[in-house]
Amino acid sequence: MSDVGPDAAVSLRLQRARLASGAVVDIDCAQAGIVALHAAGAARPAGPGCELLDLSGMLVLPAFVEPHAHLDKAYTADSMPNPSGDLAGAIAAWHAAAPELTVAEIAGRARRAVRAYVANGCVALRTHVAVGPGIGLRAVEALLGVAREVAHLVDVQVVAHVGHPLVGSGSRQRRLLEDALELGATLVGGSPHLSEDPVAETYACVEIAGEAGVGLDLHTDETLDPAMLTLEVLAKAVCASGFAGGATASHCVSLGMHERAVQARVAEEVAAAGVGVVTLPQTNLYLQARSSVTAPPRGLTALAALERAGVVVAAGGDNLQDPFNPLGRADPLEAASLLVSAGHVGVERAVGAVTAGARALLRLPTVEVGAGFPADLVAIGASSLREALAEAPAGRVVVRAGRVLVDGRRGNGAVGADGADGAEERWL
Ligand SMILES: [Zn+2]
Repeated sequence: MSDVGPDAAVSLRLQRARLASGAVVDIDCAQAGIVALHAAGAARPAGPGCELLDLSGMLVLPAFVEPHAHLDKAYTADSMPNPSGDLAGAIAAWHAAAPELTVAEIAGRARRAVRAYVANGCVALRTHVAVGPGIGLRAVEALLGVAREVAHLVDVQVVAHVGHPLVGSGSRQRRLLEDALELGATLVGGSPHLSEDPVAETYACVEIAGEAGVGLDLHTDETLDPAMLTLEVLAKAVCASGFAGGATASHCVSLGMHERAVQARVAEEVAAAGVGVVTLPQTNLYLQARSSVTAPPRGLTALAALERAGVVVAAGGDNLQDPFNPLGRADPLEAASLLVSAGHVGVERAVGAVTAGARALLRLPTVEVGAGFPADLVAIGASSLREALAEAPAGRVVVRAGRVLVDGRRGNGAVGADGADGAEERWL
């Protein structure tokens, strides 16, 4: 028993939590941050206003961040079938259905996805949202509305994912993109590699984002064709323009098809430009290489070359039960697990790609399970990082800004607000 009085400042004490190192500790939080770690049971008593939460048997990690989702498309796998199972089939299925979608219908599916992400331990996510003829601005309106609704639980960054061309007088796509930014989208997105002029469209995306003072996150080279290498163009465009809004290249599949020297050269350019890369193993494994009967490529980017060059790499889930990927459970541990098995990345780095790497790309403050860091944490019923990845248990505890958002051990895993059971309606 301590001979000093209770620590009145501590508002939340997470007791008997296991760290990735194996140590078992009590974690004190005050306001939105972690203020101290103690050997379990060694802290002086907490004040009467402190919430105590026993995490015996649970591993505590920095909370997850999803760097690349498509919440406007989530849960449409049954209503938008994609018989060919490839990227072109998925895009066609989406464009066929998009004109009929309403703001309310899109928002409903997005809320369901957000709920799943939060229950799995996400405190921030970036979603690409379709903008263009057919869907108009309805998906952006829906996602901006949902982002506001859930802002007390999860940061949602909305990327205006526009079609092409953006170049040329009277571009309807460009007007829609500008309208989406005006509505409140905070990043420019697009898929220059699918356009008629990928180089000009890449430069246009950088220019528009720079003029608007927003971030940039492009679907880049989502193809096995090595001749398509706009990742290098993006790096050059960012350097040439001095763009400082934060540039991310998602997918970068074709880089993985090049020989080592090209991978190394491009990775160096990407690192020098400060462009981050998001790898999306689940969707790429599903959509790519459908025509390869023998030894199909895995469709992942050149992870080792990017790491050697010092590029910030994050891993995302991409699509969630839609024409682009009929599977997925809104769990960053799923992407991390695939990085281990399909990308030959070690367990620690794989989890880092859905925590520290994703945080860096979303420009969020660094989180470690240590004093002085934000209290954004997830606790999982596992004894080690490897076991957490292998078993990906449900029933997680999620802490954001020093507040318990979810205790999935209560009831049957329902998300609670402020510790209440069955409280989904209270927060969504
Ligand atoms: Zn995507």
